[in-house]
Amino acid sequence: MARVYLSLGSNLGDRLRNLQVAIQRLPAYGIYPRQISRVYETAPVGETPDPRPYLNLGMWAETALSPLELLDALKALEREMGRTEETGRRWLPRTLDIDIILYDNLTFQHERLTIPHPQMRERAFVILPLLEMTPDWILPDGTPVRALLDNPTLREQEIRPYEASLSLSGD
Ligand code: ADP
Ligand code: MG
Repeated sequence: MARVYLSLGSNLGDRLRNLQVAIQRLPAYGIYPRQISRVYETAPVGETPDPRPYLNLGMWAETALSPLELLDALKALEREMGRTEETGRRWLPRTLDIDIILYDNLTFQHERLTIPHPQMRERAFVILPLLEMTPDWILPDGTPVRALLDNPTLREQEIRPYEASLSLSGD
């Protein structure tokens, strides 16, 4: 099994519930959540027509899937979640976004997938959960997770712990 770090985000509908449902559905796709961070609320990055803040969390999971199989599984879960919105048929892409940040100690380059995630160092909602759970983890290029905090662009980002948290057992 590979140990993978995933970043989950939702900014549509019942955001907390979307994250909880995603955690519960992942095993059906061969992805087994082992540890989740607290939930963070984050202002959307970049130009976006939807100003609603995201709820984000970080997750360590185990999987026997290859990197591209993992990407396909996550996209399938994102599609499933988009379609189960109460609006029925409408596909709402931001109901759930799951990005692959780390996959073991692997560096992976493909037209559909780059690991480590190319923007991970610029995103507080990726770094803070990782720091919270595994500050001693070493990235494939030798950078310890705690050194990622030195990036000044992280300090400009609006992010705060959310009032509610989630658990792996779902209660
Ligand atoms: P966002 O950049 O907001 O996550 P999408 O979820 O639509 O947008 O992702 C766009 C594409 O990025 C995916 O379809 C996937 O092929 C590609 N991609 C490249 N590297 C990664 C990665 N590490 N994790 C997830 N998607 C990735
Ligand atoms: Mg994505």
